[in-house]
Amino acid sequence: MTQPVMERTNASSAPDRDAEEAVLAVDRLETRFSTPEGEVRAVNGVSFDIRQGETIGVVGESGSGKSQIFMSIMGLLATNGRATGSVKYRGQEILGLAPAKLNRIRGSKMSMIFQDPMTSLNPYLKIAKQMTEVLVQHQGMSEKQALAKSVEMLDLVRIPEAKRRIRMYPHEFSGGMRQRVMIAMALLCQPDLLIADEPTTALDVTVQAQILDLMRDLKREFSTSIIMITHDLGVIAGLSDRVMVMYAGKIVETGAVEDIFYRPQHPYTEGLLKSMPRLTDEIGRELPTIQGQPPNLQHLPSGCNFRPRCPYAFDRCVNEEPPLAPFAPGRAKACHLESL
Ligand code: SF4
Repeated sequence: MTQPVMERTNASSAPDRDAEEAVLAVDRLETRFSTPEGEVRAVNGVSFDIRQGETIGVVGESGSGKSQIFMSIMGLLATNGRATGSVKYRGQEILGLAPAKLNRIRGSKMSMIFQDPMTSLNPYLKIAKQMTEVLVQHQGMSEKQALAKSVEMLDLVRIPEAKRRIRMYPHEFSGGMRQRVMIAMALLCQPDLLIADEPTTALDVTVQAQILDLMRDLKREFSTSIIMITHDLGVIAGLSDRVMVMYAGKIVETGAVEDIFYRPQHPYTEGLLKSMPRLTDEIGRELPTIQGQPPNLQHLPSGCNFRPRCPYAFDRCVNEEPPLAPFAPGRAKACHLESL
C-alpha cells in the first residue's frame, strides 16, 4: 500500500510538501449551480490529493456532492454549474482548461466510469468502432493495431470470446458485461487515474463482486490510481486505501480505511456504519438509520451542517462551523467533539 498523503485541511493554506508527487491535487474546490430558486452550493471547499497506485473511496448519501466534485474535475458540469479553486493533474492546473486541452488529458490520462454504462457507450455503434476510435485519436495507432489492443483489453476485463463480441452492439451485452466493456474503454489508454462513480450499484451482488475483483487486479497490475465514489461503504471496504466521507458538499472525515471502519470519529460516519447490514446480524433485525434528511444545499443550517441530524449536537454546534482538522496521523474530521 502506498503512503497516505496527508490531507490539506480547509483551515490551512500551507503548501503541501507531497503535492508535487500527487497524480491529482485538489485545493479548495467549490462548485455552484445557478437555478431559478437560487444558488445551489454542491461542493464547499474540498481539498485532497491522490498518489500513484492509491485508491480512495468517496462515501456519502446522494446529494452529498461526491459526484459533483469529479464532474467539476473532469469538466463535465451542467451548463448552469461553475467550479472554482484549483485542480492539478501532475502539477498542471486543469480547472477551467479549454475543452480541446482538457480532452488531451481526459480519456487518456484520467478516465471516468459511471453507474449506467449507456451514458458512455454509443448504442448505435459496434464496440469495436467505439474502442478503436479512442486509440486512433489519442495514441495515433493504425486501425489494425487499435483493434488488437481493444480485443486484448476486453480479454483483460474477462469478456469471453472477445474477438467475436467486439463486433457486437452494446445492447447485445448483459448489464455486467456492458460495465466491463466500459471499464475496458476507460483503461484503453492506461490512464493514471480512474474515477468510478457508483460503478456497481445497478448490478447484482455476484457481478458486483466480479467487477470489484477486476478493479483490484487493475490496481495491482498497472498501478492505476482509483477513486471509487459510492453511497455503499461495503463497496470500498476491500478496495480502498483511504476513505473520504462527504456531507453537504464537504469532507467531514477522512483516514485510512481500517480507521474509518473500526474507529470512526465523526457522528455521520458512525451513523453510516451502523446502518450497514452485517453478516452477523440476526435475521429480521431492523437496521438503524440516520434520522432526518440531508440538508437543502440552497439553505444550509447554521453552524455544523450535520447538526439537525446529529445525536451528539451541543451548544457550540449551533453557531460554529467545525473545520476539517487533523487529529491523528493521516486522519482529519470536521466535528467539535474531541472523540466519540
Ligand atoms: Fe454533531 Fe456537533 Fe460534531 Fe456537528 S460538530 S457532528 S453537530 S457533535
